[in-house]
Amino acid sequence: MKRICALVLTVLLGFLTCSAHAQGKVFFKEEGRSAGAVNAVELNGITYVDVQRTARKLGAQVEMFAASKQAKITAKGFFAILTASLDEIIVNGKPRPIKGEVTVQGSQLMAPVEVFLLPSFQLAVDKQITFEDNTFVVERRFNVELTNTVLNEQENLLLFDTHKAVAFETSQPNAHTVLVTLKDVILKRDFHQRLHTPYISSVSLRQSRNNAEMKVILGASGKTWSFTPQGNRLVFRVAAQDGAPQLPSVPVTAVKAEPNPLAISAVDPLTPSVLEEDEFEEMVLEGAPAPAVQTPAAPAESAPAETVPVVPAVVTPVIKAEPHPLAVSANHKKMRIVVDPGHGGKDPGATRSKYREKDWNLAVGKELAKLLQKGNFEVKITRDTDTFIALSDRSKIANNFKADLFVSVHVNATKNTQAHGFQVYFRSEKATDKEAAATAALENEATQYEEVHYNFVDALLQSMAKNEYINESSKLAGYVKNAVYKQPGIGIAVDQKNAIRQANFYVLKGVQSPAILVEMGFISSPKDRAKLSQSAVQKKMAQGIYNGIVDYAKQEGWIN
Ligand SMILES: [Zn+2]
Repeated sequence: MKRICALVLTVLLGFLTCSAHAQGKVFFKEEGRSAGAVNAVELNGITYVDVQRTARKLGAQVEMFAASKQAKITAKGFFAILTASLDEIIVNGKPRPIKGEVTVQGSQLMAPVEVFLLPSFQLAVDKQITFEDNTFVVERRFNVELTNTVLNEQENLLLFDTHKAVAFETSQPNAHTVLVTLKDVILKRDFHQRLHTPYISSVSLRQSRNNAEMKVILGASGKTWSFTPQGNRLVFRVAAQDGAPQLPSVPVTAVKAEPNPLAISAVDPLTPSVLEEDEFEEMVLEGAPAPAVQTPAAPAESAPAETVPVVPAVVTPVIKAEPHPLAVSANHKKMRIVVDPGHGGKDPGATRSKYREKDWNLAVGKELAKLLQKGNFEVKITRDTDTFIALSDRSKIANNFKADLFVSVHVNATKNTQAHGFQVYFRSEKATDKEAAATAALENEATQYEEVHYNFVDALLQSMAKNEYINESSKLAGYVKNAVYKQPGIGIAVDQKNAIRQANFYVLKGVQSPAILVEMGFISSPKDRAKLSQSAVQKKMAQGIYNGIVDYAKQEGWIN
């Protein structure tokens, strides 16, 4: 017995001392009801949750990429890329810092809770999500809420809080029935209650597609009624006579529906006037998908300012008339090029055995920068040592430098060891190239991985290439592909049909120069690995890319 106690104590102490990594659960409460739990862990005072389960429970889709320790969360008009050991995630193509690094526990990718509280995520899953007491509290993304009923001897009031201006229609089909339609709103909860007061016999309030329908059955003394907006409130009043509603002095906002102390019970003393939680009906949307919130005036409790992306369901290709780069950068004579060796520091990129992508990217990137400098270009390299540079900082470097070209250097990876070869990516829009769209539609694991890999670096390209530069980027990609193909001494396949790939997910915006992303080969391919690990091959690779850039610069009139 003693021994068991000692053992228990040891375990307890062990648990306490390990509390920095305390395993646990985070719970879900949806519309007031318990809705399960996911694995959670506390690291440095930050609560982390299992990315896959949490995203699914909250109504988003998730793809997991074990090889790259990444997850892609998607929901209507929203995507986020999470990468292990980075304290930065990509939200709708933009890097965004988070408080702690995404981490792996066992086979699960764990992320700080804050990821699931992003306003853009809440909008995409059409839910209002808060986190309190170790619990995700999930509500409809409502903009109308019945907050209080005031039942007194002179009148009965139903008080609604609204988060936007609400249009409504009222009608009275018969002496006892009042119908109110609130247009284009989402109710926090449906509500049905027999009040049995002299004024109101019953109230029913329910979501019906984009509208909320209220039906009030008047009581025997309910002779007159009104429905009036008052600031952020709507007040339904029933009385024996006309008159202004006598609003309670207590602020109604956030007050739970509770009986007014003056509530009459003379008529039916047994009737509970408390609105019981379990009286609420389940949300029924009549088969229709949850209606989209029409840009609600941000609810007071909605989290910090974040621009909510308005993502059109159908992306119309926009290739605008293209200003010649010379026209844009007339204020400097030498072409400015940013060389960006991918990854670095704590982010190794793809790895196989002792080889790390970041090392090859750096070797080739430095060599390329050296060649460009000699070749009379102005060059900036985002890193020339093995250091971690956040995506946002890479784009800042390029933007401050006012780059005319941006070249990011990477190595591909996939589970399929047969996949190999050199590729160049440039940003484009889905519909601009049917062939590329079809290629991307192949839903095998390899292309999925590429997709995430691309998405990840995409954020950085996104901030660097405007729609106008699609054609420039595509030209540059072509020159680089051809030059690498012609360069002797590399020994990595350049597939003439498939070596140029388009980014095909998101509308380009905020971009400041033509940009390409070079995948020098596949670290996962024994063939490519044998080549890319040789410093002689790395030099030839840099030479090939350099030659392509020179061809492009000549074509564009930067050099003779
Ligand atoms: Zn990479």
